[in-house]
Amino acid sequence: MIGVIFGPPGSGKGTQATRIEKELHLKHLSTGDILRAEVAKGTPIGEKAGRLMAAGDLVPDALIVDIVRARLPQAETGAGVLLDGFPRTLAQARALDAMLSEEGHRVDVVIALVVPEATLVDRILHRAAVEGRADDTRQAIAERMHEYHTLTAAVLEYYKGKGVRVEEIDGMGDIDAVFARVKQALR
Ligand code: ADP
Repeated sequence: MIGVIFGPPGSGKGTQATRIEKELHLKHLSTGDILRAEVAKGTPIGEKAGRLMAAGDLVPDALIVDIVRARLPQAETGAGVLLDGFPRTLAQARALDAMLSEEGHRVDVVIALVVPEATLVDRILHRAAVEGRADDTRQAIAERMHEYHTLTAAVLEYYKGKGVRVEEIDGMGDIDAVFARVKQALR
Protein backbone atom coordinates (compact mmCIF):
# COMPACT_ATOMS: atom_id res chain seq x y z
CA MET A 1 0.00 0.00 0.00
CA ILE A 2 1.34 3.39 -1.00
CA GLY A 3 -0.20 6.35 0.79
CA VAL A 4 0.46 10.06 0.57
CA ILE A 5 -0.26 12.39 3.47
CA PHE A 6 -1.06 15.77 2.05
CA GLY A 7 -1.80 19.22 3.37
CA PRO A 8 -0.48 22.75 3.76
CA PRO A 9 2.42 23.60 6.09
CA GLY A 10 1.24 23.32 9.68
CA SER A 11 -1.63 20.95 8.88
CA GLY A 12 -0.10 18.21 11.03
CA LYS A 13 1.14 15.86 8.31
CA GLY A 14 4.31 14.90 10.15
CA THR A 15 2.51 14.37 13.46
CA GLN A 16 -0.18 12.18 11.93
CA ALA A 17 2.34 10.31 9.79
CA THR A 18 4.30 9.38 12.92
CA ARG A 19 1.12 7.99 14.49
CA ILE A 20 0.21 6.11 11.33
CA GLU A 21 3.69 4.58 11.19
CA LYS A 22 3.47 3.45 14.81
CA GLU A 23 -0.05 2.08 14.82
CA LEU A 24 -0.74 1.12 11.22
CA HIS A 25 2.84 0.10 10.35
CA LEU A 26 3.32 2.09 7.19
CA LYS A 27 6.90 3.23 6.66
CA HIS A 28 7.00 7.03 7.07
CA LEU A 29 9.09 8.76 4.41
CA SER A 30 9.30 12.52 5.07
CA THR A 31 11.24 14.56 2.54
CA GLY A 32 11.34 17.48 5.01
CA ASP A 33 12.94 15.27 7.69
CA ILE A 34 15.40 13.83 5.17
CA LEU A 35 16.40 17.33 4.00
CA ARG A 36 16.76 18.63 7.57
CA ALA A 37 19.04 15.67 8.35
CA GLU A 38 21.15 16.49 5.27
CA VAL A 39 21.39 20.12 6.39
CA ALA A 40 22.39 19.07 9.92
CA LYS A 41 25.10 16.76 8.54
CA GLY A 42 26.36 19.47 6.20
CA THR A 43 26.25 17.22 3.12
CA PRO A 44 26.37 18.68 -0.42
CA ILE A 45 22.59 18.13 -0.69
CA GLY A 46 22.13 19.90 2.63
CA GLU A 47 24.20 22.85 1.47
CA LYS A 48 22.07 23.16 -1.64
CA ALA A 49 18.75 22.77 0.15
CA GLY A 50 19.36 24.66 3.39
CA ARG A 51 19.14 28.19 2.06
CA LEU A 52 16.04 27.46 -0.04
CA MET A 53 14.29 25.78 2.89
CA ALA A 54 15.06 28.62 5.31
CA ALA A 55 13.49 31.06 2.84
CA GLY A 56 10.39 28.86 2.54
CA ASP A 57 11.09 27.97 -1.09
CA LEU A 58 10.86 24.49 -2.55
CA VAL A 59 14.06 22.67 -3.41
CA PRO A 60 14.47 21.64 -7.08
CA ASP A 61 12.31 18.75 -8.29
CA ALA A 62 15.30 16.78 -9.63
CA LEU A 63 17.02 16.83 -6.24
CA ILE A 64 13.95 15.67 -4.34
CA VAL A 65 13.06 13.01 -6.91
CA ASP A 66 16.57 11.54 -6.58
CA ILE A 67 16.17 11.47 -2.80
CA VAL A 68 12.90 9.57 -3.04
CA ARG A 69 14.11 7.24 -5.77
CA ALA A 70 17.06 6.24 -3.58
CA ARG A 71 14.83 5.40 -0.59
CA LEU A 72 11.58 4.07 -2.00
CA PRO A 73 12.63 0.48 -2.82
CA GLN A 74 13.86 -0.10 0.75
CA ALA A 75 10.69 1.47 2.21
CA GLU A 76 8.52 -0.68 -0.06
CA THR A 77 9.77 -3.94 1.44
CA GLY A 78 7.37 -3.56 4.41
CA ALA A 79 3.59 -3.40 4.74
CA GLY A 80 3.39 -0.10 2.97
CA VAL A 81 4.77 3.39 2.63
CA LEU A 82 3.43 6.76 3.67
CA LEU A 83 4.93 9.68 1.80
CA ASP A 84 4.98 12.99 3.69
CA GLY A 85 5.97 16.24 1.97
CA PHE A 86 6.18 14.53 -1.43
CA PRO A 87 4.95 14.96 -4.12
CA ARG A 88 4.73 18.73 -3.81
CA THR A 89 4.58 19.67 -7.51
CA LEU A 90 2.94 18.14 -10.56
CA ALA A 91 6.37 17.20 -11.92
CA GLN A 92 7.08 15.30 -8.69
CA ALA A 93 3.70 13.55 -8.85
CA ARG A 94 4.40 12.40 -12.40
CA ALA A 95 7.91 11.26 -11.47
CA LEU A 96 6.47 9.27 -8.57
CA ASP A 97 3.92 7.59 -10.83
CA ALA A 98 6.70 6.61 -13.22
CA MET A 99 8.84 5.19 -10.40
CA LEU A 100 5.96 3.22 -8.92
CA SER A 101 4.70 1.85 -12.21
CA GLU A 102 8.12 0.30 -12.88
CA GLU A 103 7.31 -2.01 -9.97
CA GLY A 104 3.65 -2.40 -10.84
CA HIS A 105 2.67 -0.14 -7.94
CA ARG A 106 0.66 3.05 -7.72
CA VAL A 107 -0.56 5.59 -5.16
CA ASP A 108 -3.47 3.86 -3.41
CA VAL A 109 -4.74 6.63 -1.17
CA VAL A 110 -4.18 10.30 -0.41
CA ILE A 111 -4.99 11.56 3.07
CA ALA A 112 -5.52 15.32 2.73
CA LEU A 113 -5.64 17.27 5.98
CA VAL A 114 -7.89 20.32 5.83
CA VAL A 115 -7.13 23.21 8.21
CA PRO A 116 -7.99 26.92 7.86
CA GLU A 117 -5.04 29.19 7.11
CA ALA A 118 -5.25 31.31 10.29
CA THR A 119 -4.90 28.14 12.36
CA LEU A 120 -1.96 26.96 10.25
CA VAL A 121 -0.02 30.13 10.93
CA ASP A 122 -0.82 30.00 14.66
CA ARG A 123 0.35 26.39 14.88
CA ILE A 124 3.60 27.06 13.03
CA LEU A 125 4.40 30.11 15.16
CA HIS A 126 3.73 28.06 18.26
CA ARG A 127 6.06 25.32 16.99
CA ALA A 128 8.68 27.97 16.21
CA ALA A 129 8.76 28.89 19.89
CA VAL A 130 9.23 25.23 20.86
CA GLU A 131 11.47 23.78 18.13
CA GLY A 132 13.15 26.76 16.49
CA ARG A 133 12.95 25.42 12.91
CA ALA A 134 14.81 27.74 10.52
CA ASP A 135 11.75 28.10 8.26
CA ASP A 136 9.25 28.94 10.98
CA THR A 137 9.66 32.72 10.70
CA ARG A 138 6.74 34.89 9.57
CA GLN A 139 8.35 35.63 6.23
CA ALA A 140 9.27 32.02 5.48
CA ILE A 141 5.80 30.86 6.55
CA ALA A 142 4.20 33.31 4.10
CA GLU A 143 6.44 31.99 1.33
CA ARG A 144 5.63 28.35 2.19
CA MET A 145 1.90 29.13 2.05
CA HIS A 146 2.42 30.83 -1.30
CA GLU A 147 4.32 27.81 -2.66
CA TYR A 148 1.57 25.56 -1.37
CA HIS A 149 -1.17 27.50 -3.15
CA THR A 150 0.68 28.06 -6.41
CA LEU A 151 2.45 24.68 -6.84
CA THR A 152 1.33 22.04 -4.37
CA ALA A 153 -2.46 22.34 -4.19
CA ALA A 154 -2.67 21.23 -7.84
CA VAL A 155 -1.26 17.83 -6.83
CA LEU A 156 -4.53 17.04 -5.07
CA GLU A 157 -6.53 17.84 -8.21
CA TYR A 158 -4.11 15.67 -10.17
CA TYR A 159 -4.86 12.64 -8.01
CA LYS A 160 -8.61 13.32 -8.02
CA GLY A 161 -8.48 13.56 -11.81
CA LYS A 162 -6.74 10.20 -12.02
CA GLY A 163 -9.36 8.55 -9.84
CA VAL A 164 -7.00 7.92 -6.91
CA ARG A 165 -8.87 7.64 -3.60
CA VAL A 166 -8.56 11.04 -1.91
CA GLU A 167 -9.76 11.28 1.69
CA GLU A 168 -10.17 14.86 2.84
CA ILE A 169 -9.99 14.92 6.61
CA ASP A 170 -10.81 17.67 9.06
CA GLY A 171 -7.43 18.47 10.64
CA MET A 172 -8.87 20.64 13.41
CA GLY A 173 -8.94 19.47 17.01
CA ASP A 174 -6.37 17.58 19.03
CA ILE A 175 -3.94 14.99 17.66
CA ASP A 176 -5.98 12.02 18.87
CA ALA A 177 -9.20 13.33 17.38
CA VAL A 178 -7.57 13.86 13.99
CA PHE A 179 -5.86 10.47 14.16
CA ALA A 180 -9.20 8.77 14.86
CA ARG A 181 -10.55 10.31 11.62
CA VAL A 182 -7.43 9.27 9.70
CA LYS A 183 -7.73 5.70 10.94
CA GLN A 184 -11.38 5.58 9.99
CA ALA A 185 -10.54 6.81 6.50
CA LEU A 186 -7.79 4.22 6.05
CA ARG A 187 -10.12 1.31 6.89
P1 ADP B 1 6.04 21.90 5.97
O1 ADP B 1 5.05 21.04 5.26
O2 ADP B 1 5.66 22.20 7.38
O3 ADP B 1 6.41 23.16 5.23
P2 ADP B 1 8.25 19.98 5.45
O4 ADP B 1 9.08 19.43 6.56
O5 ADP B 1 7.41 19.01 4.68
O6 ADP B 1 7.41 21.11 6.15
O7 ADP B 1 9.19 20.73 4.38
C1 ADP B 1 10.07 21.74 4.77
C2 ADP B 1 10.79 22.33 3.56
O8 ADP B 1 11.57 21.32 2.91
C3 ADP B 1 9.89 22.87 2.46
O9 ADP B 1 9.45 24.19 2.70
C4 ADP B 1 10.85 22.78 1.25
O10 ADP B 1 11.82 23.81 1.26
C5 ADP B 1 11.60 21.49 1.49
N1 ADP B 1 10.90 20.33 0.86
C6 ADP B 1 10.40 19.25 1.51
N2 ADP B 1 9.83 18.39 0.65
C7 ADP B 1 9.96 18.94 -0.59
C8 ADP B 1 9.57 18.57 -1.91
N3 ADP B 1 8.89 17.43 -2.13
N4 ADP B 1 9.88 19.39 -2.94
C9 ADP B 1 10.54 20.53 -2.74
N5 ADP B 1 10.94 20.95 -1.54
C10 ADP B 1 10.66 20.19 -0.46
